[in-house]
Amino acid sequence: MDQEKKQSKCNIHPNFNNNLLLFEENNIHTKICLVCAKKLTKNINKIIEHDDLLHADQDHIFSSFPPLENEDIYNTIQNLEIKKDISIEEIFVEKINNYFISLKKEINQKIDLLQNQIKSKLIQMGDFSQNQRELLLDIYNEISSKFEIQKLYNEYSQDSGQRLKEIIKEKYQNIKSNTEKLQKNISEYQKIINKINLKTPNQIQQKILDLIDQIDFIKKPLIDDIEFQKSKSYKSSQSLLIQRLQNRQIQINQSVNNFGVSYANFILDPNQKYIFRVKLQTNSQSDSFLFVGIIQEQNKDNKPISNGICYNERGDSMTINKVVKGNNVFEGENINIDKEIEMRIHLAQKMIKVASYPNYQNIAELENKNLILDNTKYRFAVELNYIIHKITITYFTEVYDFDQKM
Ligand SMILES: [Zn+2]
Repeated sequence: MDQEKKQSKCNIHPNFNNNLLLFEENNIHTKICLVCAKKLTKNINKIIEHDDLLHADQDHIFSSFPPLENEDIYNTIQNLEIKKDISIEEIFVEKINNYFISLKKEINQKIDLLQNQIKSKLIQMGDFSQNQRELLLDIYNEISSKFEIQKLYNEYSQDSGQRLKEIIKEKYQNIKSNTEKLQKNISEYQKIINKINLKTPNQIQQKILDLIDQIDFIKKPLIDDIEFQKSKSYKSSQSLLIQRLQNRQIQINQSVNNFGVSYANFILDPNQKYIFRVKLQTNSQSDSFLFVGIIQEQNKDNKPISNGICYNERGDSMTINKVVKGNNVFEGENINIDKEIEMRIHLAQKMIKVASYPNYQNIAELENKNLILDNTKYRFAVELNYIIHKITITYFTEVYDFDQKM
């Protein structure tokens, strides 16, 4: 033991142990003392204590080891809080719980504060409206002679009847001025009542509720991440026009009356679940060849989509034709088609579905699931064949799980 310790002392600096590893690329020393190490390098990130190495447990991430091209990675891994004893699901649940606890707390605090501010404003207005209310009642009581009539009936005598008749006749004589007087005061009172207007607060409430509905930790529209490319040699694909609209949607139309295929800029991951929404527009007579589907990687530049797996607005030459809800999604040979469809794809489960969107009233799926081949690369693609045709990709996302709408 003593001998070991003695051996770990630096020969040059006997007060220092050789307890460090220096790991510069061309300057590696497995047992070196601090003074020697500092002489050999200016980069203290390239020094690590033997103790650090020996005591590092399963969860430990070194702050500069192993050597990496990007030094930020050490911090990134540390911040990921990779711990063996907590599952990723538990981390998600905790994050989501914390989010909602904090959301509720902040919203409650904000609302309480605002409510108190508005209440104290109201209290300042309070006397005023109270006075106005009493004034209105006073005027009514005066105009109606309510109390005088009460008194006359309570002490009814021969004179009372005469007096009552006179009072009522007076009311008729003053009918115009009394009506005006009351109306004036009613409208002043209403003015005050209407100062409390719930229209805007109710609209804001609805907006807040709508915003809360949009809170989602997993789903994220990815329309910005998707691009469309023209098939390199299939018919007139090169004359397609592809543009990104201001709302980030992607519009594809044809500049000649011939077929053209356009496909997405990525290969579909079989294990991923995708949602695409597509707007279809055509005015053509009985020529609604608007195809949406998937095409094999090897066919994308020389074959039509109908060669792959597709939905066709005209209803023929397609494979997604097994109605699972409602009626057919396609319109057949109708003219003036302007509609949106949603397509869901999960290749690992050989699943492709199409629905009318946003109502999901009509849903169809792939008739023969074996058409989706294993170990085959597919891309999302569209095909159109007339100048008048237009296909717009309105939405694209990947989801953790599909909802139950279709
Ligand atoms: Zn030394």
